[in-house]
Amino acid sequence: MVQAIVGANWGDEGKGKITDMLAQCSDIVIRFQGGANAGHTIINEYGKFALHLLPSGVFSSRTVNVIGPGVALDIEELLEELETLKSRNVPEPQILISDRAQVMMRYHVLFDVLEEKRLGKNSFGSTKSGIAPFYGDKYMKIGLQVNHLFDKAVLRSRLERAAEIKNAMLVHLYQESPLDIDALTETYFALGQRIRSMVCDTAVYLHKALKENKIILLEGQLGTLRDPDHGIFPFTTSSSPLAGYGTVGAGLPPTAFERIIAVTKAYSSCVGAGPFVTELFGDEAEELRRRGGDAGEYGAKTGRPRRVGWFDAVATRYGCLMQGATECVMTNLDVLGYLDEIKVCTGYEVDGRVLKDFPVTRLVEKARPVYVSLPGWKEDIRGISSYAALPENCRRYIDFIEKEIDCPISMISNGPKREEIIQRPLS
Ligand code: GDP
Repeated sequence: MVQAIVGANWGDEGKGKITDMLAQCSDIVIRFQGGANAGHTIINEYGKFALHLLPSGVFSSRTVNVIGPGVALDIEELLEELETLKSRNVPEPQILISDRAQVMMRYHVLFDVLEEKRLGKNSFGSTKSGIAPFYGDKYMKIGLQVNHLFDKAVLRSRLERAAEIKNAMLVHLYQESPLDIDALTETYFALGQRIRSMVCDTAVYLHKALKENKIILLEGQLGTLRDPDHGIFPFTTSSSPLAGYGTVGAGLPPTAFERIIAVTKAYSSCVGAGPFVTELFGDEAEELRRRGGDAGEYGAKTGRPRRVGWFDAVATRYGCLMQGATECVMTNLDVLGYLDEIKVCTGYEVDGRVLKDFPVTRLVEKARPVYVSLPGWKEDIRGISSYAALPENCRRYIDFIEKEIDCPISMISNGPKREEIIQRPLS
């Protein structure tokens, strides 16, 4: 049985915590898209970790962690994260890497940096992890698959092919030096050897696991609004964070997906550029940012302050819809306990009309939020473990949002730790 944990918004919804929690009872956890450009914050018995590339099942020794072919595999980042786990006494995790996954090259990171610099004030706010140049090369068919690293002649010829285009850009567009093919061949051959024991045909492994009725969990990175097709283009990422893409990026049959869990925060947060209709500014934003997450709303990858705002039911309803969510988890509800009243955006006013369906970017840019105000609960809800024990206004907030987003809220997270979760009885 396959279940997916995915983001309903801009990312950073708290998927890492939910995956870490559900990984305890899963046989396999899979990353199927993205790369080391986002971070999952996990707090468990080993301490606090920010994972960028490793699947969040690495803390459970019974779980096999798979990096699927849809992932941008940054080998150096992977090795570094494994080293961190070891140095902090986490038992060695079981990792399998698809032999078809493509490799994030150092020059992808360089291109990302150079392009953001070239764009200047029009930059996208990239995390500069090389993601857009990586996926660009993949679809231009000049990327390198992991298996290419194991044969020096193949590796060199793939690099030469890529360099024909890359060097023209490096030299003429960015006024930089061309790629050093000899050095790259040696570096990536050596890196390939370091991960070789983890590399296999993960699709075959997963299909066998399905036949054996293993519990398989897919872990999405970022969220619906960053999807290249359905998100706020061009303020999107370069691979699809939708559960539907899991079939491709992991190599699983679409019919195997039974449970799709969309994660959303009890308020909104967003890293990077692009329209954000419910964004707060000034003192109001500063206070929410300071209180949010486990140590304030600052990016797990970049440390950048996250933009924060009221809960956006228009964006989240769309977020759950596009994910095909069968249920929703609301995280960070404890953060809102200081507010007298809490606003929820239930519509977008665009050119005098109120929209309920999340529109194209051109219109999102013009949208003004239509809010409903709900009374706060003015109470610290951390430590509460049953739904019935939550303050009434808190339950009202959840009920209201559930109706607006049209997706059952099955769990509430009321703190960053693994055990801080409340099951919500579904009617
Ligand atoms: P991900 O990328 O979706 O895994 O999300 P991140 O880990 O980047 O961001 C979520 C943030 O919220 C992290 O700082 C988590 O530690 C924190 N977090 C998750 N759930 C809760 C919660 O219920 N309450 C609080 N206060 N923090 C939470």
